[in-house]
Formats: sequence, C-alpha cells, structure tokens
Amino acid sequence: MHTGLGVLFLFLFGFGIAYWYVSSRRGAAIVPINPGYRKILQQSCLYYQRLPAAKRPSFERKVQHFIMLKRFVPRQLVQVTAEMKVLIAAAAVQLTFGLPHIYLRHFKTILIYPDTYYSTISRKYHKGEVNPAWGIIVLSWRNFVEGYVNPGDSINLGLHEMAHALRLENVIRNAEYGFLNEEWMDQWEVMSLRELYKLRKGESHFFREYAGVNEEEFFAIAVENFFERPMEFWSHMPELYRVLCQILKQDPLVLYGYRKAS
Ligand SMILES: [Zn+2]
Repeated sequence: MHTGLGVLFLFLFGFGIAYWYVSSRRGAAIVPINPGYRKILQQSCLYYQRLPAAKRPSFERKVQHFIMLKRFVPRQLVQVTAEMKVLIAAAAVQLTFGLPHIYLRHFKTILIYPDTYYSTISRKYHKGEVNPAWGIIVLSWRNFVEGYVNPGDSINLGLHEMAHALRLENVIRNAEYGFLNEEWMDQWEVMSLRELYKLRKGESHFFREYAGVNEEEFFAIAVENFFERPMEFWSHMPELYRVLCQILKQDPLVLYGYRKAS
C-alpha cells in the first residue's frame, strides 16, 4: 500500500475505534433522531411535550439510541411499528432521563404482544414482565397504550416494567452496574419496608394494594405514582417522594411546573 494511503487508513481506523469507544462507553448517541420518530414523540408522548424545549434534543437522542440498542420482536403481531418502538423507548427514557448513560443494556430484546398473553410457566395471562435470565422485557401493546390513555390514574404498564428492569440492571454486573446511589437506595429500603408493613396489615394506603406484594412491586408502583400523580404522592409521602427524586435524579413536580427547581 502507498505510505500516504496507509497513514490515512490508520488515521481513519483509529478515529473509528475512538468514536466507537467513546459512544459505547458513554452511551452518547451521536446519531440524530429519525424525523419520523420525533413526530411520534411530538404527537403522543406527554412527558416529552412537557419538557422544556432545551431538554428535548437530549430526550430525542436517548430515544434513538435506545431503539438502536434493542431488538424489538413481534409476537402474534405482523410487525413492530415505529410508534411501538418510539413509545416503548420513550417510557424507558422517561424513567432514566436523570441517568444519562443508562439504557437498561442487559435487556436487549423487547417482545411485544397485541394483548395480554398466556404464560405456560405461570399458567396465567400476563400484561407484561421482565425476564433477567433471558434479558427480555415483554409487553402487551394494548395495556401499554392504556397506561397512557389516562395519564393520571397511576397505572402505567410501560413505566412499571421499566422500573423492574431498572432495579435489576443496577445489580447485574455489566457496564451499567451499580449506578443507583447506594445511600439513597438504603434509605429507600428502610422507608419502603415500613410502607410494605402498613400495606400488608391492610391499612388504607396511597399506593394500590398490589404494592404490598414485595419490594420490587412496591418500587414499580411508586414509579407509576411518581410520574402520574406526583403532587398527590408528594403530599401523602413527602419523604418517600424526595428519596425517589434523589434516586432517579429528576422531579416531575418541577418538570410539570408545580414548583421551581431547588
Ligand atoms: Zn410488577
């Protein structure tokens, strides 16, 4: 090879490796969002619509990068539409928006069913689940959409399953291991055990009864309430709300304009 060409080749090769390294390490999505995806966010993603204009580009980049990292698999569906990909990615990005480099990387595959699906393992119909052994998130599209139809009822399948995935991702040893602040997580555990006790005694509680099943369900339901009824959550359990703000590094009350950032 001609020496000049060789040097050029080595330079480009080196640049390529450096680019790959930086983007894979930091999860920095340098690829701009597909304009069709942006349109879907503008039309159908309430969280995105509420974001200050200055924050929307980073949300878009995270959505695009999330979509590129995942394999979306249709089950009993002809295909996975762009709308499905964007809105499922948006649920994950909403949850992790305060954690810029987190993409739930262990969960590489997202299975989408049109409706509730029968599990031969549990012998029950499911709306969604997270399977850490296979690195899979499963969602019923009908239930996913219903979660957003009434944005204030604190039932949101997408956020619920992503919340399960987030806690698992935090304890699975990979590039995204141990990203949730330990001290705040310890505080969360102490406080949530207290609340679980109340729920199990049958005391009336701000969270729905299912939150009393275990710590994982408690966290997932707390996340649903955090985004769908932040004001009510804060007025019922201000300390728990504050700790969740610290864990997720965001505050929906600020985002929705109920109060100023402190
Ligand atoms: Zn659950």
